[in-house]
Amino acid sequence: MSLPRLLALAELKPQDMADELQARYEVVREIGLAADVEVVLTAGNVGLSGAQMAQLPGLRLIAVNGVGVDAVDLAEARRRGIAVTTTPDVLSLAVAELALGLALATGRKIAEGDRFVRAGHWAAKGKLALGSSVLARRAGILGYGRIGRKLADLLRGMGMQVLYTARREVPGALDGYRADARALARDCDLLFVTVAGGAETRGLVDADVLAALGPAGILVNVARGPVVDAEALAQALQAGSIAGAGLDVFDDEPQVPQSLMQAPGCVLTPHIGSATTDARRAMAQQVLDNIAAHFAGRPLLTPYEV
Ligand code: NAP
Repeated sequence: MSLPRLLALAELKPQDMADELQARYEVVREIGLAADVEVVLTAGNVGLSGAQMAQLPGLRLIAVNGVGVDAVDLAEARRRGIAVTTTPDVLSLAVAELALGLALATGRKIAEGDRFVRAGHWAAKGKLALGSSVLARRAGILGYGRIGRKLADLLRGMGMQVLYTARREVPGALDGYRADARALARDCDLLFVTVAGGAETRGLVDADVLAALGPAGILVNVARGPVVDAEALAQALQAGSIAGAGLDVFDDEPQVPQSLMQAPGCVLTPHIGSATTDARRAMAQQVLDNIAAHFAGRPLLTPYEV
């Protein structure tokens, strides 16, 4: 019996999960050879455009290996009645812990300290400049979804005071609400960006928000690059109007602007928020389970409301 065909624009990890996909399906990797497929497997940062969908007349399911859907043309999926699934919850801890790691690396100069030691400066010049405490400060979470709330739990558990902003106040939330990004930045020292990407949140962290964060402030972005105005951020870092930034996501990945590469107090990682073996395995399992449910005519496990 022939295996069902699907188009894979992204890989599953670790390797045994990729092998599982290959064992269950005839995996096509070029859209030009996939006109008949019902299912596309893609990743959050790869997505699927309307033009790509137009090449796939039989498309029924877009299975995203991730939670960001900003790169999927949702309006077109809705118009054609194409289902979208994501991998919620199973990556939240991994992304939250990277956000915490970036805050610690930035405030406590861990990445800079590593470069300092390797360059021989410790022996030659003595001491690195003082850093600033992270856990003694007040945290703000911009985007109080699954990742934002997981991060808030971790920070609160370590004794930090946590504030958040969202489109509306969350009833019963353990953390203090602020009406918008500017008010949140004004009242916190560590601003964590965990909001969804897309047109509505583009440039949400702008020069005004950075000014409100202030010269002792640290910005951490594990959401999507365009949520933060990169040029305003580079200028704020150069001018010392904020203290530092830890960034996992960028506008035009894998390109990183020179202005951020050269900015002081800036720690950069290559979009590795969910890149742990545990998280990636659990994400791959959700992808496989959703695709299996589609072909078996069962309800999807983690549908995204398009
Ligand atoms: P989620 O549970 O859907 O949370 C998204 C949050 O964004 C929700 O609180 C939502 O608010 C808020 N939001 C959406 N549009 C908004 C707007 N226009 N203004 C203000 N808030 C808005 O998703 P999640 O699992 O926490 O993931 C959050 C994001 O993290 C993803 O979308 C993705 O871009 C990013 N991510 C990055 C990595 C990485 O590797 N760095 C990995 C995974 C995810 P409401 O509650 O009001 O809807």
